[in-house]
Formats: sequence, C-alpha cells, structure tokens
Amino acid sequence: MKPGCSSRPNVAVLRPGRDFTVRNGRPWIFSGAVMAEPSGAAAGEVVMVEDDKGESLGWAAYSPASQIRLRMISLDPQSTIDESFIADLVRRSVERRGELLASGETNAVRLINAENDRLPGVVADCYDGWVICQFTSAFAERWKASVVSTLQDAMPGCRGVAERGDVEVRTKEGLSVTGFSVLSGDAPPELVEICERKVRFLVDVRNGHKTGFYLDQRNARAAVAQLSSGREVLNCFSYTGGFGLAAAAGGAAHVTQVDVSGDALKLAQQNAALNFGEEAAKLIEHVEADVFRYLRTCRDSGRTFDLIVLDPPKFAAAKSQLMKAARGYKDINILAMKLLRPNGILATFSCSGAMTPELFDKVLAEAAVDAHCQLQTITCTRQGEDHPVALTFPEGHYLKGVIMRRAD
Ligand code: SAH
Repeated sequence: MKPGCSSRPNVAVLRPGRDFTVRNGRPWIFSGAVMAEPSGAAAGEVVMVEDDKGESLGWAAYSPASQIRLRMISLDPQSTIDESFIADLVRRSVERRGELLASGETNAVRLINAENDRLPGVVADCYDGWVICQFTSAFAERWKASVVSTLQDAMPGCRGVAERGDVEVRTKEGLSVTGFSVLSGDAPPELVEICERKVRFLVDVRNGHKTGFYLDQRNARAAVAQLSSGREVLNCFSYTGGFGLAAAAGGAAHVTQVDVSGDALKLAQQNAALNFGEEAAKLIEHVEADVFRYLRTCRDSGRTFDLIVLDPPKFAAAKSQLMKAARGYKDINILAMKLLRPNGILATFSCSGAMTPELFDKVLAEAAVDAHCQLQTITCTRQGEDHPVALTFPEGHYLKGVIMRRAD
C-alpha cells in the first residue's frame, strides 16, 4: 500500500473534523482534508468517502491531480454510481430547462451547469439545437461518452453534440487542452444563429468565449432593454453586442459598442446588421478600444450617456487578486458614473466569483462618493435560471449585477 493511501482501493478517508462540510452538502473536498487516498482508483473514478471513524459519507469523483481532490456525487452510500445514474442526472438536468425552452423566450440555454446540477465539471449549452460542452474535471472526462449520448437523446431536437476542449482549467485536473470536436450527430455551422427575446445573434461556437455566448446574462440583457427606450447607450466590453443589441431592440436612440477585440466587434457588427438591416449603421456604432482609455477620452471631451453598461471580464481569478480587482472595479465605475447624464442608468457587473455581492456593493458605494454622484439601486441581477446555483455550493454564484439610477 502506498503511503497516504487507504487500505481499500476505492475508499477515501477524511481527516478528523473534515466530514462536517460534506455532511452539510458541500460538493468539494480539498486535498488537505483527505487523510487517506483511494489506493486503486483512476482519475475520475467514483469512490466511497468515509470519515475518520469509518462512517460512510457517500460517493465522490476522484481527481488525483487536482487540489479539489474529491467532488461529491451522492450523499447516499446505498446508491450505485454507474452509467444509468449519470444518464439520469443528465436527463433531469435537461428536463429542468424544458420550461424555459418552451417559453419561446430563447432557443439558447445552458442545459447542464456542472456542480450545481450534480455533474461536476460538465457544462452543456444549447444553441438552437446544437449542444456545445466543456468537460473540466477528471470525472467529466471519464463519463463524457455517457453524458454525450444521453444529451443527444434527451434534448428534444438535438442536432449534434460538440466539445470545446480549449479550456485552460482542464490542466488543473491533469487533462490536456484540446480543440473543437464533434462528438455526436452533425457538425454545427461556423456561426449558429440564436434568438433571444426576438433579438438574433450569430454565435461562433468554435472560437467564441465560453461556448460562444454569454448565456448567463440573459436576464440582465432583458433588464437593460426595459430601461433603454429613447436613451443614448454606451455598452462597454460589448463582446458580440449582447447588451447593446438588447438596448437597441428596447428602443435606444443610439448605441455605442466598445470592445478591445476586433473579432468580437466584427461579429457584433454582423449581429447589428442581422437585426436592424440598413438602420444598423445609424443606430449602432462600434469602437475598437480599451474601455479604460475610451472612458477617459469621453470624460476629457465632455461626452455623456443616458445608459452605460459595464460588463468587464473577470478581474479576480482567485481570492489573492481580490484587492487589486476591487481597485479595478472601482476605477472603471468611477469613470462611468462621471459620464452619466442626470437620471442616467448604470448597469454594472462583476463575474469574479471571489467578489461577493456585499463587497461589490461597497466598491460601488465608494466609487459613487469619489465620483460625486448620488446613485440609487433599482435592480440587482444574477445569472439566469438555466445557471442555477446549488444552495450548498456558494462558488456557483459568480455573476452579480447592480443597475443604478443617477438621482442627484
Ligand atoms: N457583455 C458581453 C460579455 C463581455 S465579455 C455580453 O453580454 O455578451 C468581456 C469582453 O471584454 C470581451 O469581449 C473582451 O474582448 C473585452 N475586453 C477585455 N478587456 C478589455 C478592455 N480593457 N477594453 C475593452 N474591452 C475589453
């Protein structure tokens, strides 16, 4: 038996006192909590987890290469974790999105949200029948074939299932970073057209961010659209135009989309033309620029807006970067607040998981003081209902948004 290993091949034993969070439903067990690793389990295999007194706590997926050594799959020691158990989780996850898909609000939704749907490291997004997956844990990699075949069967009208293997976080699990591959059914077109609240978007499922589109901001886009009528809108970090097009569809008088990526803006421009035809050029302007610089240029030239969206990339990838990230969020929000016209709206977001909603509120309050702006919160947003958060998995809450009105 290897040192530090359990005497039984498929059993992991926790250190004294480290069973508490598991019993309370937290799915992640870090390496430091493990007293004895399973001696014979391969990466991604499901093993029994026991406390230091030998009491069984349930079943977990084993990731020998990762700091997150075990991910709980079931708290029931009697359950059998096999293909049919996994297929059942996949089917139920897809079924939970049935209402949203049937509502006609959108044909693009997240079907599986990893730990939150009890399938650690499995993400599956559906774009008009094309399912694009990411597998970011050893467990997800091991059970890929079952997940894919069940998705193909369970998703009504599924046209094909593909994988984006270009996810850096795979390396943390000892998995290689690969490319795009079709795993079942047909290959999707280069650009898949989706429709969200009557706005059409072309999605680059092979090269776009995440699986191609920020599905998690759907409700926030709807909230912004509702506030856009007659307003002059600045959409910072526009990516392929999401918030800006929602605003234009909501009756905005003019939209400026700003992003540093020429490729993202090219698609944003195509999306503008797709929705507004010849009107697009007059209604929507695209600016390739660094947002920090662009906001300063606006400040220096006295340009102002009625509605500003700030949806930056993640400033804090880990807790250690939180203070630096908080300064970044503060700076950018001060700049935006100063450009708001009286009664103007600021819709501001943070997708850094390490930034709690409380800290984000505090950063925004400090920014408002420094910007000499009176602001009142009118709505708070989170990721949409197809990105559910397991109550026992607070890490699942990464996205928060605050929509404020200038009231001075
Ligand atoms: N709001 C978008 C998603 C934004 S993702 C949506 O709802 O679809 C973040 C975007 O910020 C990316 O498109 C990236 O190219 C852009 N970006 C990152 N740093 C930037 C910077 N300093 N200035 C401008 N754009 C930036």
